[in-house]
Amino acid sequence: MPAWTAQLERNLSGIRRRIDEAARRAGREPETVRLVAVTKYVDSEVAAELVRLGCRELGESRPQELWRKAEALASQADAIGSVRWHLIGHLQRNKIRRTLPLVSMIESVDSTRLLDALNAAAAAERTAPVEVLLEVNVSGDVEKHGFRPEALPEVVERLGALEALRVRGLMTMAAREGGVSVARQDFRRLRELRDRVRPICPPPHALDELSMGMTRDFEVAIEEGATIVRIGSALFEGIGR
Ligand SMILES: *Cc1c(COP(=O)(O)O)cnc(C)c1O
Repeated sequence: MPAWTAQLERNLSGIRRRIDEAARRAGREPETVRLVAVTKYVDSEVAAELVRLGCRELGESRPQELWRKAEALASQADAIGSVRWHLIGHLQRNKIRRTLPLVSMIESVDSTRLLDALNAAAAAERTAPVEVLLEVNVSGDVEKHGFRPEALPEVVERLGALEALRVRGLMTMAAREGGVSVARQDFRRLRELRDRVRPICPPPHALDELSMGMTRDFEVAIEEGATIVRIGSALFEGIGR
């Protein structure tokens, strides 16, 4: 067994332990927090090893890279088992058709145009509804994608028409600058926004999931209510690939 696989295993168990501890500190059950391993920094071989280590939910921010890895790992499914892929980056509408059959969740839905296009494509091509999250730009960073927080009530009110999708919650990235205390404010803002719009969300949609927190801030995200954390860098430290 190459040395990097042992390092990957140590990194993964270290992160799982930190997730558990953060959940307990917040008075939450550790099982209420899902880890999505973000594989954008590594090749398919490393991604496959993560799956073998029991990490079944993987994330990619670029659709083409998700296609490549999802196909590579699907061809090894007999050996490593199946993977639930999350798209966590911007999706252009011309990439919807190729992406839909490969993903279990699209976390980065950032416009009503994309919501409508996804719904139409899913109605035509999928048997199971596609799970999605609405990305919200809580920090107001001009370089970030996502709905403006003020726009969200109107977006949520109109979800009822989208029958081929299941909106499951909200996703955000904290401001790049300002460290963990600013990140905490951003995460709290997302949770409070979710609490405000939850009562107007038409079933079968529901805003149960909060996807927030990455390597530098996942512990405060869990303390603020994250149900999904998306972690990349910390998983691959010291594996030299
Ligand atoms: C890359 C990425 C992550 C993971 O970031 P790390 O800091 O490497 O853990 C999480 N979310 C999104 C949207 C990303 O693009």
